[in-house]
Amino acid sequence: MIIDAHTHTFPPAIADKVVASLQQKAQSKAYTAGTDTALQQSMKEAAIDISLLLPVMTNPGQVEKLNDIALQKNEQSQSTGIVSLGGMHPDYENYAAELKRIASRGIPGIKLHPAYQNTDLDDMRYLRIIEKAAELELAVVIHAGLDIGIMHHNFASVAHIKTILSTIHPDKFVLAHMGGWKDWDSVEAELCGENVYFDTSFSLVAYVPPEGVFVPEQKRQMLQKEQFERIVKKHGAEKILFGSDSPWSHQAESVKQIKELNFSEEALKNILYKNAKKLFSL
Ligand SMILES: [Zn+2]
Repeated sequence: MIIDAHTHTFPPAIADKVVASLQQKAQSKAYTAGTDTALQQSMKEAAIDISLLLPVMTNPGQVEKLNDIALQKNEQSQSTGIVSLGGMHPDYENYAAELKRIASRGIPGIKLHPAYQNTDLDDMRYLRIIEKAAELELAVVIHAGLDIGIMHHNFASVAHIKTILSTIHPDKFVLAHMGGWKDWDSVEAELCGENVYFDTSFSLVAYVPPEGVFVPEQKRQMLQKEQFERIVKKHGAEKILFGSDSPWSHQAESVKQIKELNFSEEALKNILYKNAKKLFSL
């Protein structure tokens, strides 16, 4: 079994436009058309059984609508293999009631994206959301570290993350992109061993710009294989979740890369599905 704990899709009517604009903003190539149908095709090619969708809410007005879409998708999960998390925006006022609503309807967690939500992770508005989510036993997945499209400020740095861990002590806390995108030295030094999950999305893969776009070598530099293995060993394979960040990387290629690393069979099973199955009750 394989579970991809980090994927994105967009409504069919606007997927083309959204993928094109995000490709431009992130200067990163998309590997699917960005729809659920395209994701299902990709899952088939990669032998992935379940993909977890992480919706990103860029304004408070989207919260209920996107959570409703997530709930609808989850009614079809048995046949599609697609399970959606919900989301929250720091400026959404009735966060406690909305989190309660989605938790009561079986959503296993929420995604927060500090860079796209223009708010530092240690902001009071996030602290209260994460605290409420922990109380409701919702997992919280954070876009950790820099964002490829917003390189001037780190909205979810290791210091911010440590504040959350030491004040709220959440049990189901996931840091995407191996603890912090482009922040891997600090992750290795300061976060390994903490009670937090890392997902492997968009860390080990090659960073491929869309055709015709030049991206300097420094920006294209991703997590090196040796450091990836060191972080996993130091942190513990029971706290690592396989994620591809599809459409921003190729699912089959991402699975292959993880399988080629120097991990025991048990560690590999933990990373590829066991940890996610347990954490998100899949
Ligand atoms: Zn992502």
